[in-house]
Amino acid sequence: MTYRLFLSHDSEKNKQIQSSLTDEIWQTIEVDYDSEVYLLLEDGSKIQDLDLILALLRPSLSFERKIKNLGTSFKNLVKAKVSGEKILASNEEINKRRAVCKDCPFSVRSFYGKVCSECGCNIKAKTSFLTEECPKGKW
Ligand code: SF4
Repeated sequence: MTYRLFLSHDSEKNKQIQSSLTDEIWQTIEVDYDSEVYLLLEDGSKIQDLDLILALLRPSLSFERKIKNLGTSFKNLVKAKVSGEKILASNEEINKRRAVCKDCPFSVRSFYGKVCSECGCNIKAKTSFLTEECPKGKW
């Protein structure tokens, strides 16, 4: 699929996209400017939803990395459980974390809910456990 990304000179969306894509990704996409931000697909469709633009432009995490992350999460959970540590975050903490994820450009929609495209975790689950941390250090 060929994408052509249109950025606008002055928009919040524009800044979010610019800060969340790596140099490698920038080298693979054609960029142009227009009055608004959108992604033009080869079939002529225009995508304006920021989450969707980021999800399409970012290479998805490899299956191996997702499994590795899942394994680490599970190991941390078991370790905390065995040593009698608290596992679930308080409602206040969960809401605080979710509010951060909600505005984060790495939060993307997937067929199994909102996921963090940095680690591949489901955001609802990730934000609920004290053993988890944001891979970008935001919480
Ligand atoms: S866990 Fe961190 S990087 Fe991932 S979506 Fe939430 S705030 Fe963003």
